[in-house]
Formats: sequence, C-alpha cells, structure tokens
Amino acid sequence: MAYEVNNFDSTDVVNNDRDHVWHHLSHHKPFEKTGPMVIVKGEGMRVWDSKGNEYLDAVSGAVWTVNVGYGRAEIADVVRDQLVAMNYFAQTAGNVPAAQFSKKLIDKMPGLSRVYFSNSGSEANEKAFKIVRQIAHKKYGGKKTKILYRDRDYHGTTIATLSATGQFERRNHYGPFVPDFVEVPHCCEYRAQEEADKENYGVWAANQIEKVILAEGADTVGALCLEPITAGGGVIEAPEGYWARVQEICKKYDVLLHIDEVVCGLGRTGSWFGYQHYGIQPDIVTMAKGVASGYAAISCTVTTEEVFEMFKEDEDPRMGYFRDVSTFGGCTAGPAAALVNMEILENENLLENATEQGAYLLKRLRGLMEKHAIIGDVRGKGLLVGIELVKDRTTKEPVDESVITAVAGHCMANGVIIGRTNRSFREFNNTICLAPALIARNEDMDQLVEALDDAVGEVASKM
Ligand code: PLP
Repeated sequence: MAYEVNNFDSTDVVNNDRDHVWHHLSHHKPFEKTGPMVIVKGEGMRVWDSKGNEYLDAVSGAVWTVNVGYGRAEIADVVRDQLVAMNYFAQTAGNVPAAQFSKKLIDKMPGLSRVYFSNSGSEANEKAFKIVRQIAHKKYGGKKTKILYRDRDYHGTTIATLSATGQFERRNHYGPFVPDFVEVPHCCEYRAQEEADKENYGVWAANQIEKVILAEGADTVGALCLEPITAGGGVIEAPEGYWARVQEICKKYDVLLHIDEVVCGLGRTGSWFGYQHYGIQPDIVTMAKGVASGYAAISCTVTTEEVFEMFKEDEDPRMGYFRDVSTFGGCTAGPAAALVNMEILENENLLENATEQGAYLLKRLRGLMEKHAIIGDVRGKGLLVGIELVKDRTTKEPVDESVITAVAGHCMANGVIIGRTNRSFREFNNTICLAPALIARNEDMDQLVEALDDAVGEVASKM
C-alpha cells in the first residue's frame, strides 16, 4: 500500500511508534502508559499532535531548526521538482542546486569561499576536524593535531564531536574519547569563575585560552572550535572584548578559528551568522539546522580559500586532496531547499524580524523578573534566548532540575513548547531555552511570555 500523507489512523500510528521507534534523548518508560507524542501537522509557528492538541512551538522543532516556520509549500515544491529532475549523484561531480546555493551562501560570508556538503551538524564538525588534522600532517609534520573546545559548548553527537563537547552529562557513558581534544574554560559572565577579572571578563576569559595553548605547546594546537553563542549549554553570549582577543590569540599562535554556527547560522541571532556580530574572521564555519529549516537534511563546512588551497598540491599525491566523502552530501534536495529557505529569509526580512521580536521578547521576559524571584538572568540575541532559574538571586544557586522540568510540563499543558538545558551539562540544568521561528509576531511572543509567567509562578509557589 502506498503511503498517503494525511491519511492515517491516529491510534495505529501511536501504537506503531510506541512499539518500534527508538526516540532521541527520551526515556521510553512513560510512553508505555501514555504513548509517545506524535506530531502530525505544522503551520507557521504551530504544530498539532495526533490527539488534535495545538501547540505554539517556541523551539522550532524542539532543537532550534525550523527557522522559516512550518508548512512552506514553496520549499517543498522546489524540492519535489529537483528530485524528479535529478535526485542524487555523489559530490565527486557537481549538481545545479549545490553550485547555486554555494554562491548565494558565500555572498553572505565575506572572507570565506568554499562549501563542503554533508548531512548534519555533527558531520559538518567532523569534516572540519578532519580538515584541521590533514593540515597538521601536510603542513606541520604531524604536529598541530590538537583541537581546543570550550567548557559548556556542544559540537555534536558522534564520538569525535562529543570528544570536543564541554558538557559532562552528554559525554558521560560514551568514553573513551578521541585523543587531542582539549577543553578551555567557559565564558559565562553571569557565572564568572571566582578568580576572574570581573571588570574585564571578556578579555580575561579569552586569555585563559592562551594559557591552555601555551601549556599544551602552541606547536601542537591546530584549531580552536567555539560556538558564537553557546546555545544548548545555556544561551551564553561572551561579553565585550572576548572575540577580538580570541582572534588575536589565534593569529599569534597560528591556530585556525573554527566557528560552529549549527544553531546561530542563517539568521537566528538577527545576522546571517552569529560570528558576524563580533567583527571576527573565522577560517572555518560549520552550519546545519537553519540551512534548510528542516525541509531537507543538509550541513555545510565552509572554509577560506587559504584553507582550501592547502589541499591542492602535495609532494605526496595521496595528500593532494581532502580524502573524505559523504554519500548523502550529494543529495540535491538539501541545497534546493536551502536556496528557497534563503530566499524566504531575504524576501520576508526575517533577520530584521528576529532582531525586533528578540528585543521584544527579552524586554517582556525581563519584566517578569520583577514578579518572579527565581528568574536569575534573562539573556540572548535575536530569537535565541535563555532564562536561568535560581533558588536565590544573590547566591545564584541553580534550581533543582525538577523545577525546570515542571515549568516545561506546565507550558506544554498550556499549549506552548519550550526547551531547556535539562540533563545537558555538569552543574547548570536550570536554563529555559527559547528559539522560536524567525516569523514570530508580537502576539506569538505574548502567548509565550504569558505561558511562562503562569508556569514559573505556579511552580515557584510550590517550591
Ligand atoms: N553544534 C551545535 C552548536 C549544536 O547545537 C548541535 C546540535 O544541537 C550540533 C552541533 C550537532 O548537530 P546535529 O544534531 O545535526 O548533528
């Protein structure tokens, strides 16, 4: 029997899901009683489950992905036509949407020039790590293989990208890890390290990276991999001074700067890329989620021409190219969807909207601080926002994880889906994460804030 979209028996679907699907990041025990939630429809910022419940989705598909919103027939139409014309050929050859999308993307990324296609954020980061490692072998006689990553940053789910992830609970149980990934301290001003220079925290935090480079030996460090704004680790933007100093340090020690834009990329923070707020020039940029807003699987590892050039020639012919392939990096659906996705972002001025609605959301959430003492900090940029809950504003002691779970549950019961740092890292499982689609309007933000107001008030009253 052919699969027909929108022609299904809900009970059948829920039963089949419960019996056979292994869900991501999920305890399955509760499903035995209630059955899993199955999302059957999406439109704009809203989704519906198989029981007919409507939700305002404030995290764009649970993991900050659907930047242009649900139900975009114009993307689906182009993808369909593309698949009928030419669905797949490995990226050893070119294809039309990949060529056209690369040009459009690079036009938004001055200083960068080459796009390597794969399928997920983790894979894009793996490619970046392999590029760094091959350069270490080609140019530095096998030295400079070390890759630095930051406490609280996340770079993916594979063993190598977990080896580059500063979130203990995500890594826990998956060791041993890949050698030569080295952690540097986080840069969260709200939770500045005790010994930090609080007056000049951004520069101080960047200087800690230099200390690690010197301790490891600059001739062993090939790259520094950072999120422009730490997303799942608690929505953390580095303060003034950090990025200029980071760039200076990378230049000084000949360390490639790799920026992971998997969350921030394609408009979420109000600029095309998060790093573009800080006046820096990365050597490598990776991106995934918002590239095609979840309409097709696609990720990109973008490099400077200088990095690309290093692969062109070598005395050893086996080293004269990047010896890597990604089978589905040759799918045409991804770049076709990404082209239309970018057009929508431009035509509907969604970067500007992210800036405006983000400012509106932050203002309204900061207003809630007067009402709810457990809101310790509200922060973010564009439509990437975090709300840190604490037991006490002076001591900043984080609330127990059960509090954040209860707030999320309460919002869900009121028809609003929010995200949280739950179970993601060592100490601070206490931050609500919001990343609504960039099409958000004031009314949507009002509904979100009202649901949070209600949930936080209710949960705090029982603490
Ligand atoms: N990098 C960052 C900053 C992420 O937030 C994520 C996923 O959440 C990834 C990489 C991994 O992306 P993916 O799940 O597509 O492999």
